[in-house]
Amino acid sequence: MESSRPLPIPTPNSEPFWNGLANHQVTLQQCDDCNAWVFYPRSHCNSCLSPNLTWKQVSGNGTLYSFTVARRPTAPQFIDDIPQLIVVVELSEGVRLNSVMVNIAPEALVIGMAVKPVFHLRDGATLLYFEPE
Ligand SMILES: [Zn+2]
Repeated sequence: MESSRPLPIPTPNSEPFWNGLANHQVTLQQCDDCNAWVFYPRSHCNSCLSPNLTWKQVSGNGTLYSFTVARRPTAPQFIDDIPQLIVVVELSEGVRLNSVMVNIAPEALVIGMAVKPVFHLRDGATLLYFEPE
């Protein structure tokens, strides 16, 4: 079932993000005009609407902002991933993203815990997961 799982489809706006992950780098857009960090990838700053965004490499470190433990598959393709630790991570830059935690027991998840990126290769795509720091 591994190969039938959905994979990200890069768009012109998000392609640099996925290319960064393929090189084991977490990259975010930063606004040249107001310095806001922007995620998800967009054509304009969501703080000041400037089109002047620059991709920058960041550590990918952050904290666990929220989580849920899925004990039933969220889609048929994820039946082998149960329990799936679905998380919202707040990166050090302040943006939040949805992901999955690995290398931790569900009972050990604690809001606010430090996390670091895991570059998970699947079917030719590199996905951004997280694990305890
Ligand atoms: Zn801005």
